[in-house]
Amino acid sequence: MSKRDFYEVLGVKRNASEDEIRKAYRRLARKYHPDVNKEADAEKKFKEVKEAYEVLGDKQKRAQYDQFGHSGMNADFSTNGFNASDFGFGDIFDMFFGGGRRQNPNSPRQGEDLEFRLNIDLKEAVFGKKVDIVIPRMETCDSCHGSGAKPGTHPESCAHCQGTGQEEVVQNRPISIVYTRVCRVCSGSGKIVRDKCPTCSGKGRVNKKRVVTVKVPAGIYDGAQIPVPGEGEPGINGGPPGNLYVTIHVKKHEVFTRDGDDLVCELPISFAQAALGDEVIIPTLNGRIKMKIPAGTQTGKEFRIHGKGVPRLGGYGEGDLRVRVKVVTPTNLNEEQKQLLREFNRSLGEYVHEQNISFFEKMKKAFRGGGD
Ligand SMILES: [Zn+2]
Ligand SMILES: [Zn+2]
Repeated sequence: MSKRDFYEVLGVKRNASEDEIRKAYRRLARKYHPDVNKEADAEKKFKEVKEAYEVLGDKQKRAQYDQFGHSGMNADFSTNGFNASDFGFGDIFDMFFGGGRRQNPNSPRQGEDLEFRLNIDLKEAVFGKKVDIVIPRMETCDSCHGSGAKPGTHPESCAHCQGTGQEEVVQNRPISIVYTRVCRVCSGSGKIVRDKCPTCSGKGRVNKKRVVTVKVPAGIYDGAQIPVPGEGEPGINGGPPGNLYVTIHVKKHEVFTRDGDDLVCELPISFAQAALGDEVIIPTLNGRIKMKIPAGTQTGKEFRIHGKGVPRLGGYGEGDLRVRVKVVTPTNLNEEQKQLLREFNRSLGEYVHEQNISFFEKMKKAFRGGGD
């Protein structure tokens, strides 16, 4: 089985920053964590994501991977031993609570990332387009400026956690450990709002719709993710906003399928066209073009039209259009047509006979065991 590219697994560009890689990993790990995602292949994907991050999240390993690809990593993994038990508590906490050790709840935090699924058709994927998408997201409440307190009042410090936003919990089995978790009374904010802001019911944030223009590059593929920096949910306590990730879904096309950067289509032609040759008009995604079918074309033959495929994403040039010819056997012939075909078949006479003989010769050889 061939291994997927680690950058592709994490859905980031090759020049992604450490921060982008870490965030992509967290997002995907949350999505596929077997405790959360019960789909059949979630665990597999989870491991794949984890493995990709093991490499791309490590400066040295990433450099090695950039230079040598998967082959450069093999030795490393087999000696280090990579398995599921590498997952400590820290990782899981880190994943679900955004940082193993919570800082002061009043310190600035980055907003949540958002994901948006965008359906486009094949033509849009090939030529690219600008799309305005409407995203419902949480925005800071204008009435209370995010504090959640009724205008004119102020939130109080949480007495349960003394404003730290976290409480200590003792766990005795299997060994005695003390860990800290989010304060249940103030949900980690460290603050209690007595008089709630009526606009946001004390949440400090309200649901709003926002229009974001996304540039879909020409040649984008199904499943690709376009990052839009800063268009996620707003930061908390003045922190930076999260990012928006637009996941592309390309709808099936009636005529064309995509194979890498090539477009493939099937062209039905008649037996007469195949035998005599013809010039046919074939569709492309931007207009029609003429194509010559040489005399004696067999069904299944593929013709390649250079440069009429999909533009290479982030590169130069484009793929080809591959036209696969399918010779259609006529049905519902009338008596006259049948008669003509019978005559035609008779006229082939020797030719058909020879074809048959060569076929039966081959059969005989095959059953004898292939020896001459
Ligand atoms: Zn408010
Ligand atoms: Zn508290």
